Amino acid sequence: MTVTLRANSSPGRPDGPPTSTTGDRTGVVLRHALAQGLLSAEQPVAGFLDVDHIRQQVASLRAAFAGAPDVLHTFAAKAASLVPVLRLLAEDGMGCEVASPGELRLALDAGFPPDRIVLDSPAKTRSEIAEALRLGVAVNADNLDELERIDALRPPGCSSVIGLRVNPQVGGGAIGAMSTATATSKFGVALRDEGARERVVEAFARRPWLTGLHAHVGSQGCPLELIAEGIAATHRLAEEINAVLGRRQVTGLDIGGGLPVNFTDDTVRPTYQDYTAALRTAVPGLFDGRYALVTEFGRSLLAKSGFIAARVEYVKEAGGRRIAVTHAGAQTATRTALMPDAWPLRVGAFDAEGHPKQTPPRVQDVAGPCCFAGDVVATGRELPLLEEGDHVVLYDTGAYYFSTPWAYNSLPRVGVHGYRTDGAQVRSAPVRDPQTLDEIAAESGARHAAGLVTLAARPATAETTGEERA
Ligand SMILES: *Cc1c(COP(=O)(O)O)cnc(C)c1O
Repeated sequence: MTVTLRANSSPGRPDGPPTSTTGDRTGVVLRHALAQGLLSAEQPVAGFLDVDHIRQQVASLRAAFAGAPDVLHTFAAKAASLVPVLRLLAEDGMGCEVASPGELRLALDAGFPPDRIVLDSPAKTRSEIAEALRLGVAVNADNLDELERIDALRPPGCSSVIGLRVNPQVGGGAIGAMSTATATSKFGVALRDEGARERVVEAFARRPWLTGLHAHVGSQGCPLELIAEGIAATHRLAEEINAVLGRRQVTGLDIGGGLPVNFTDDTVRPTYQDYTAALRTAVPGLFDGRYALVTEFGRSLLAKSGFIAARVEYVKEAGGRRIAVTHAGAQTATRTALMPDAWPLRVGAFDAEGHPKQTPPRVQDVAGPCCFAGDVVATGRELPLLEEGDHVVLYDTGAYYFSTPWAYNSLPRVGVHGYRTDGAQVRSAPVRDPQTLDEIAAESGARHAAGLVTLAARPATAETTGEERA
């Protein structure tokens, strides 16, 4: 990625269009997409992922942890729950962090071997736990009651690595919804609560197969020092458990993900090197090989590898404000539309042919297609004047923006394409097809279309029990 350092006057707020290099490079892909019909009047929004950039991020993650003798890097599936993306990462030797039966299914379909899959979720049902243990997937129990379920469900000869998630309660970052180590977080065993440490040590004493500790301190908005402090507390707990038990029972530490992403310009910062440097300072012994490490990064691996492109359908003026109505809104940039201050994005302006627009900047709003007033992805942003038929690009949207769609207005999930560039040469491959109208109807209950009319027409009888199927 081209690195351009700029003095950034207002952190957390994208400061206008990206550098011309980014614009040119994105334009090459945009022109390919337009020529191939991946983006058109009929298909007015699509997502794009840079395959080489994804692999570079994986390589830089590996390089930063090169000093740790035993480490498994897993990808947090929720950040890009797309089978071809997961397959690419599996081929690259990564593991996968999953948090639901759906994510587990995608990880298996993508080809991750079960011993490279980690199941974390605060609400695992008994059957989900049993299936994970049957497969040999690693499981991080969220709480002590879940450990009791595991006691009952562990099959003989179970190969799953089993750990316990703790909440070091080191506090939150800038975004409340992304902070998992607050005093009252719903995740893990709250370590600073009265008697909690003793209960945790006891839980390990009773279960020789319980060999891991897990902490995921937070995501976007959490400073590295806070994350490192949470991991230091987890490391201290592992040492304490082993000392009390008089044996090295805790052999693995899953240190979670959460490296923040810079959404204000092209620079990758903080880097994975910055992160491991913060860890070395906070936990000097972490990389000495006494604990096998697992990481679970999501956003920092993929955010800067992807962008969303959308056509400008109309432009209008209202109350002196120029508004471009585009097809990229809350259905794909959900967090940005609903929490614009926490999740601002850089926007690029391109013409109908996919060339960066060069006209002088003017203050405009960039809105999406949804029928609610908050469906705006950039408010009062200085951009070259957008016109009907132009394209907008939302940068740094490779993580979460393709995996957390919103079915508002029955808008389709956007199509996603992977690409590689070689100068002006672009090759691409489908990652996810845009949702069709038939698929939208199917997930909206079309199969049961007559159900309510039939229910209303039938007299209720005393024997009627269970669901009535039309
Ligand atoms: C979401 C999540 C991650 C990934 O977080 P990022 O901020 O995307 O790196 C890792 N571990 C757990 C338990 C999570 O819930």
